[in-house]
Amino acid sequence: MSMYDTGLLDYISFRQSTHLNYHRSTIDLQDYGKLIPQAMKFVQQDLPTAALSIGNDPKLLLELGIRQWTGYGAPQDKPGALARWTVLASLREDVPLSLKARAYSSLARGWFDQAHENAPETLNISYLYDAGNSANEAVALGLISPAVLAVATRIESVGFRRPEDNKFPEHSTERFERLTDLWEALDARDAEMAEENLKREVKVSKDPLSYFCAAEDCGIVATKKSTLWRCGGGCPPAFKPSYCSKYCQKADRKHHRPFCRPDATESSVRPTDSTSATTVERGPSPPEDTSPERFQPGPERTIDVNLGGRTVQISSSTIGPQMLREMREGLEGRF
Ligand SMILES: [Zn+2]
Ligand SMILES: [Zn+2]
Repeated sequence: MSMYDTGLLDYISFRQSTHLNYHRSTIDLQDYGKLIPQAMKFVQQDLPTAALSIGNDPKLLLELGIRQWTGYGAPQDKPGALARWTVLASLREDVPLSLKARAYSSLARGWFDQAHENAPETLNISYLYDAGNSANEAVALGLISPAVLAVATRIESVGFRRPEDNKFPEHSTERFERLTDLWEALDARDAEMAEENLKREVKVSKDPLSYFCAAEDCGIVATKKSTLWRCGGGCPPAFKPSYCSKYCQKADRKHHRPFCRPDATESSVRPTDSTSATTVERGPSPPEDTSPERFQPGPERTIDVNLGGRTVQISSSTIGPQMLREMREGLEGRF
C-alpha cells in the first residue's frame, strides 16, 4: 500500500467531505500527513466477515460503503455502496441519528458523483435530485457537510432552486424547491461567508500595508497582521510595507529602497528605476519560503484565484506563500 495511493486519498477525501460539519472538515495538504497514517491503520483492520451480512453493526456497514465506493480497502462496488447507505439511512430503525446523517451525507455525495458520471457536460437530473434529497435529509438530522453544501451549490447554479432560474422547461423545479432544510443551510453558510469577508475587508482597509504583501504580482493577503513580515528598515510605521516571504521582500527591494528612510512621507510607489542604495534594510528577516514543509500551522493566509471570471479564495494556515501562488497559477491555467 503506497503512501500516495490515489485510492487512499479518495478515501480520506470522501470521509472528510461527508462525515464532518463543514466548519471542521477543511483539509490542507499537511493534514494529509496526519490523516494518511490514521486511515491506513483504520483500513488495515479487516472488517469482520460477520459485518458483510446485512443487519450488523451500522458503523461498520457505513465504513464498508466508503471502501466499496472508493475501492480502497475493499473491491470497488458503487451500486453496493449506495444500497448499503440507503438501508442505513432510511430503512433500518436501529441506527443512531448521527450515523443516519452520515449515511445520507454519503448518499448525497454518491448520487452527486453519479449525476456527473457520463460526461461533464451531461447532468443526470434524477440523480442530482437524489443527491439533493439525501443532502436535505442529512441537514435535517443536523449534519451540514461540505458534500451537502456542494450539492446545494450545484443545484442552485444549474437553476433548479427557483422557477425563475430554470433553464430546462421540460423539468419542473418544484421538487427541488421543497428541499427547504438544504436551502436554509446554504443561505446560512453564504451569509456567514459574506460576513467574514466583510469583516476582513474592513480590517484590511483600515491598515492595508499590514495585510497585503507589497511585492508586485504576489497577491497574498493575510488574515492576521502577524502572518506577514514588516520591513525592518527605517521607514516610518505608517508607510512600512509588509512581505509574505523573503522571496517577495527581495523582489520588492529595489522599489522600496528609496522610501525606506525615517523621513519618508509616502510609501513605496512602483515602478521606480532608482538605483540609489543609501538605506540598508535591517531587522528580522522573514524565512525562505521555497519549502512548504517549513511552515508550521499558524495564522491564515488567503489568496484570490480567478476561475473563469469568478473569484474564489483559497485560505490556509499551513500552506506556505510560495505554494499558494503555485496553486493559483495551476488553477488559473486550467480555466
Ligand atoms: Zn509576497
Ligand atoms: Zn522599509
